[in-house]
Amino acid sequence: MTVIGLDDTDSRERGMCTTYLAARLAEAIERAGATVHRRLLVRLNPAVEHKTRGNAALALHTDLDADRALDLAATELEPLAETDDPRTSPGVVVADVDPDGVPAPVAAFATRAVRELLELDEARSLIETHGYAHRGWAGGRGRIGALAAVGAWAGLDEWTYEHVAYRAFERCGTPRDVDEASVFEAAADHYPTAWDTVDRAEGEAVCVPNAPGPILYGIRGDDPETVRAVADRIESEPIERAATFLTNQGTDGHLREGTVGDLRDGRAYRVDGVVADAPETRRGGHVFFGLRGLDTDATVDCVAFEPTKRFRDRVRALRAGDELTVCGEVSEGTLKVEKFAVRSLDRTAETTPTCGECGRSMESAGRGQGYRCRDCGTSAPGPETVEIDRDLEVGWYEVPPCARRHIAKPLVRGGFDAPVHPER
Ligand code: ATP
Repeated sequence: MTVIGLDDTDSRERGMCTTYLAARLAEAIERAGATVHRRLLVRLNPAVEHKTRGNAALALHTDLDADRALDLAATELEPLAETDDPRTSPGVVVADVDPDGVPAPVAAFATRAVRELLELDEARSLIETHGYAHRGWAGGRGRIGALAAVGAWAGLDEWTYEHVAYRAFERCGTPRDVDEASVFEAAADHYPTAWDTVDRAEGEAVCVPNAPGPILYGIRGDDPETVRAVADRIESEPIERAATFLTNQGTDGHLREGTVGDLRDGRAYRVDGVVADAPETRRGGHVFFGLRGLDTDATVDCVAFEPTKRFRDRVRALRAGDELTVCGEVSEGTLKVEKFAVRSLDRTAETTPTCGECGRSMESAGRGQGYRCRDCGTSAPGPETVEIDRDLEVGWYEVPPCARRHIAKPLVRGGFDAPVHPER
């Protein structure tokens, strides 16, 4: 078997998309008389600075001869890759290997590429150690992602599907013509096997991208028939080609267990802690709160950014003392919250005591001197503890589909360790 890994052919301004190259290359392989067994769309560490958008790398599993595969990949890549963009640095890696049986260090490279920041030198030396064919253009940094895509089938353990429909290439850059009503209807009929197709509260068809590039829409879900069935129901401008990818989208594959006080930039974590101070909405509508670790005084700033929309109301509903598990990427020391679980809610508050004799509200008797009733002189040693209503429940809360990172797992997919409050 031959595994072809591809990455970094696209440009933020000029469009293109490595998935499109993979779809075209798969067709070229089939025209050459070979079979393409799988198309993988692998989302790597979303914290990577060089990424164009979603840090995607692609792999094709085929019975085409490995020698021919590199030439064919280069022939398809060269006219499409946006190498005039200084940020675009394409790479191709071709391995003559069974995708299930790649060597352990290559599988581990894939797992690490989802969770860490890696160097091109390490990718090159692994590629050479294992005798894989490779080519890079404009520096060829894409070989990091391409090698990760080669190792992904063995290195990653959970797979979902995305069916991508592509526009006619000459229409790229013009507004997309997709009938939103047909998208919302199909999404409702196939939820939750297909997820993140729309954001109902925002009224947004999130499966239709805004960025330039050839993707018309991408339907994500748990099985290939369903994602294709949703796509079949969507009315739109002509579709030039389509492809169904196996992906690690919607899996939370980027998250690792972490401890407050021991978090590193460029990684994404699941951390337990206690809300240290009341959430605060700052300029731009971003909501911040401090999370103190368990058994430590260390804290980490957590933020729900403005684009997370209604999720910020869930964050604003937190109070100091609530026990949480928080998930998200750490950047410049701040954890960007993707989801959190309420483990326990602080349901008490301290208020000015009421006089037991005459029922009036007491007043402070001075610093550290408790309270006194102005009318009857009765005193109380300190504030009164009262039970309060909370606008949150125990369980998991998440950002809405319009703010979901590709790799983040929607709560509706299940497998969480507490009740879930899914957004749709
Ligand atoms: P799009 O979403 O539009 O397909 P992209 O977001 O996938 O674009 P790329 O243009 O592929 O972005 O850029 C990502 C670059 O980062 C590639 O060169 C890839 O090799 C590299 N890369 C991927 N994962 C890592 C990692 N874990 N550490 C370091 N570099 C990485």
